[in-house]
Amino acid sequence: MESPGGPFTIQDLDLDAPRPDEVLVRITAAGICHTDLSMRQIWPQERLPMVFGHEGASVVEAVGDAVTTVVPGDAVCLTYRSCSSCEQCTTGGPAYCEHAGALNVSGSRPNGSTPLSRPDGTPVYGSFFGQSAFATHCLTYESNTIKVPAELPPIVAAPLGCSVQTGVGTVRNVLRPSPGTALAVFGAGSVGLSAVMAAVAEGCTVVAVDPIAHPCPASPTRNYLAGLQLCGPII
Ligand SMILES: [Zn+2]
Ligand SMILES: [Zn+2]
Repeated sequence: MESPGGPFTIQDLDLDAPRPDEVLVRITAAGICHTDLSMRQIWPQERLPMVFGHEGASVVEAVGDAVTTVVPGDAVCLTYRSCSSCEQCTTGGPAYCEHAGALNVSGSRPNGSTPLSRPDGTPVYGSFFGQSAFATHCLTYESNTIKVPAELPPIVAAPLGCSVQTGVGTVRNVLRPSPGTALAVFGAGSVGLSAVMAAVAEGCTVVAVDPIAHPCPASPTRNYLAGLQLCGPII
């Protein structure tokens, strides 16, 4: 993104070689989340140009010397970054990491450096959620680079990084419905459809409300929902 609230444009940029704690990945699919669109509207002008994207599926191409959890060739999905050492991170709450802002939405590494630059050396901001997945390649970290089965289609792996966690977590960790509960889900995008899947798995009767009557025929989620109708009621 070149200008405040402006369109996404395709540019050729240079990407740093991975530092000791970094992973170089090749993006195979990327979801688009409302956070990308809402941050686009409020992103500070002094941190432009900026590369967004935080639901990447990818293949590891290279790792820094300190990285031990993934190796080149691994299929991975990318999620939010966390510090692994604060009280939230060490007590099972990495989504509430005390350093989440600096690690995810500063547009740079915590030390202020940017992983991206124009061919003339001008810095370009990135490291969005420790990734910036609207790209062919990006640098990621152990805490947000999760190995997945190689046979998992990238278009299914990508939304695991944000929208699936959000929708499933809302049902399983917050609402915790008893089997047989009726649950209405407003908005049947990837967050909402993930909530639908979780609620069906919990034995709920689900009402999904969306202005679009039918999922996009090309959507892989449609196939998953078709399968779910076999194991629980969807109205
Ligand atoms: Zn998101
Ligand atoms: Zn932390």
